[in-house]
Formats: sequence, structure tokens, C-alpha cells
Amino acid sequence: MARPPRNKNTVRKKAPKAPAQDLHKGYRGAALECLKKFGVKVWSDVLIDSSRGRFEGRVLPRAESGDDQHIVIKIASGYNVGVAVDAITDIKETGYAVAHYKIPEKEFPFKEGRPFVKLLGTGGTIASRLDYRTGAVIPAFTPGELYGAVPELADICNLETEKLFGVFSENMGAQEYVVLAKAIAREIEKGVDGIVVGHGTDTMHHTAAVLSFMVQKSPVPVVLVGSQRSSDRPSSDAALNLIHAAKAAAESDIAEVMVCMFGPTSDLYGLLHRGTRVRKMHSSYRSTFRTIGDVPLATVNRERIAPLRDDYARRRPGDRKCVLNTAFEERVALIYYYPNMYPDILDALVDLGYRGIVIAGTGLGHVNKPCYPALKRAQEARVAVYMTVQTLWGYVHMDVYETGRDMQRLGVIPAQNMLPEVAYVKLCWALGRTDDLDEVRRIMLTPVAGEITDREPTNGYLILQGGLPEVEEFISGHWK
Ligand code: ASP
Repeated sequence: MARPPRNKNTVRKKAPKAPAQDLHKGYRGAALECLKKFGVKVWSDVLIDSSRGRFEGRVLPRAESGDDQHIVIKIASGYNVGVAVDAITDIKETGYAVAHYKIPEKEFPFKEGRPFVKLLGTGGTIASRLDYRTGAVIPAFTPGELYGAVPELADICNLETEKLFGVFSENMGAQEYVVLAKAIAREIEKGVDGIVVGHGTDTMHHTAAVLSFMVQKSPVPVVLVGSQRSSDRPSSDAALNLIHAAKAAAESDIAEVMVCMFGPTSDLYGLLHRGTRVRKMHSSYRSTFRTIGDVPLATVNRERIAPLRDDYARRRPGDRKCVLNTAFEERVALIYYYPNMYPDILDALVDLGYRGIVIAGTGLGHVNKPCYPALKRAQEARVAVYMTVQTLWGYVHMDVYETGRDMQRLGVIPAQNMLPEVAYVKLCWALGRTDDLDEVRRIMLTPVAGEITDREPTNGYLILQGGLPEVEEFISGHWK
């Protein structure tokens, strides 16, 4: 199969007759003078010589809020660099380009016999382009435009797209979760073969967990996908992740809520992670999503999907039913404990009427002694308090130390090996369903979608998701 074509964000042509002020868009003061002095403008390809070295790139418009002391260029890696005007000795124009940042939305070519996939867009970098007015990444790709950028999708499936929201994922919340869960259930009922959810990566693991609880027993794969690098950058993972996700949704036998993102640091394969065991683990690497305390579900590349385990929910062809339950109590907090934490934080939550608190405790699940009276108050106020571990890997054990037993007497319930964020959204979901704290406890401690496992793999627990060649190289370099 051919590689997806690069984003053609720019077409090279002769400089258009733009109004004079647009030629230096956003530049003023010393920076404007410098551009004029060397006869270059916004969108010029330039070689800049400066006392700090030589820079090569394309002159970008300045943000309205930018200073007047720098010329900003986009270099080949995709990063933007500001070159200080007072250090510049020479600028040569080597070319000129006019930007076309709008990729035309194309109707997806329907082909008889291909699986039908629905892409629900929520926003994030995968749905973004750069806004050169502010220099910010803004949500501006519609899912239809995504197809315009990745035509290879048509080899995999018949795709329909729908933009539900256009938000960065820190803005996802109860309202969006419910709309998304309902949209997924609606598509399942219509009889799609698979669903892809385009999502910002930052909180994708929250949404994957929420959907794992809200949309149960899906007969088809529900695949969340995002990208760490926007599609205007040569190292963007947007196209490949999307191709992998579409393939997983169209062909995979795994009918679960999953996250599909880069596996190793190379583009060898993507990984399918179970929605309740996955976490974003690096702020900028493309291979940021890792299955925690377990083995990922499968690898996926353009050719095939290879399951890494057998205990997954199977696709049910012809079935159009799932179990939808969109309950969500918002008065739940997730507290990351730190030494010297004051109990007033817990007191405040109780006073504010919070109904649930998940604590990410130290080690096996601890908080300091001064917090105990606050935990007792929470218990008396019928606030559900659950303990998880900051270590992420491993189980809460509150029977090992006396302190753990004390906390259990104060009503703190160990949440086994649920990840803190997963325990948080599950508690929102459980408290949304019932006021009965015994029933909440039963819901919390009964696994729904693999969020609690009987055991975690003991060997290679950090890397059972693809070797990292650079780590191997580093370690073997130290063997003498
Ligand atoms: N801030 C973005 C988001 O989570 C990052 C991304 O999409 O990767 O929406």
C-alpha cells in the first residue's frame, strides 16, 4: 500500500499582489525594518545569517501579541524559531510560498463491500491546524477535511464523518461525555462496522475510560485516536494514527473501547490499548500512550491487526445493541496526595457537598495521619472515598501496614489496581447511578471493562508494548 501523501499545505507560485501591509503581517518596529532592509516578507523562504549561527526556514506572520525584536521562521523540523533582530547580519530570500491552510473537504468515495466506519470528531490536535495569526494550534480540521488529507482511508473503509465538538481535550467534561456516548450508541444501532473517535490526546484516557463504562457490550470496535503533532509538521502522527484506527474499527475482531496510537518510537506499528488500562505517559513523544499494568490488546499496521492476547470481547456481526448508561455525578474529586498535604482540602470537599473522593496515595495507598480526622468527617457525611496508587503499576494494599487498616476503618475503600483517573470516572459513573454507598462499592469493585485485573504481568511490565530500540542500544552500550 502506498504511503499517504504529505500534506500539501503550500503551493509554490509567484508572489501575489497582496496589499502592502500584508507582506509583513504582524511585524512592526525593528523586526519590520529588518525585513524591509533585506527585501524579504512573510512566506519568504530565507537563509538568515546571525551572530548566533545560520537559520533556514520560512518567515511566518507574527502574532498580534508578539514583540518587535524577532523574526519568526518555521524550520524544516516543523518547529518555529524566533531569530533576534539585533543578531541578524544578512537575510537572503531563496523562494516564496503562499499558504493554503484549508484542505478542501471531500466527499468520501463509497465502495461496495467495504466495512462502514463512522468517525466522530471531538477536536484536539488531530483536528487542528496552525493559526499563524496567533501562532496557536487551533481546532480547524473537520473530519471531512481529514479525509482530504488522508485519502488512503478510502482503501480501508467507507467512512462517514461527523463533528460533535471542536475542543482541546482539557475541555471535555460530563456534557461532552454524554453526547459522545449517545452518538456512539446511535451509530451502533444504525449498524456501523466500527467507530473512530477523533480526540485530543491529553485526556483521551479519561474519555476512553468513561466510554468503557457508559457504552458497554458494543458489538463493534470503538477506537479513540489522536495525534501528538499537528498535521502541518513533517513528523506528524495524525495520518498514520488515523489509518491504523480506521483499520482497527473496520476490521478488528476486538469489540471494545480502545485507544489506537503510535506503538514504538518508529512508525512500525500502532498499538490498540484497552480503554480502562491506558494512560498518556509523555508530554510530547508520539509513542506516548502505554497500557499500564497489563499487555496491550493488539498491534496494528497497514497490513494487519495482530492481537497480543486472547481475552477480549469479540465482534458480533449483525448485532446492533449495546448497553448505554450515561450516568455521571460531577461532584467527585481526584486528589493527588503529597507529603505535608493539609486535611483542609478534604474538609473543603466535604463542606462543598462532594459525594465522592478518589485519592492517589503514596506507595501501597497512604496519606498522612493529620488527614485521618478529615477522612472520618467524610465517612460521617457519607462521602464515598476510594484509594488508588500514585505508582500506577500495582495494587492498593491497605492491610499491610497498621495505617492502611486505620484508613479502612475510616471508610476508605481500596480500589484494587484501577488507575487513579479510571477510578475517578468510574466513581462519577457509579454515584450517578445510585445513592446507596453499598451499591456504589459493589459497582466500583466489580470489573466492567478490564479496569481491575486479577494480576499484573511481572516481567517486563514497563515495556510489554514494544521494545524501544534506543533503550536497547543504550543499555547494551554499557555491557562490557
Ligand atoms: N492539547 C491537545 C488536546 O489534548 C493535545 C493533543 O491533541 O494531542 O486536545
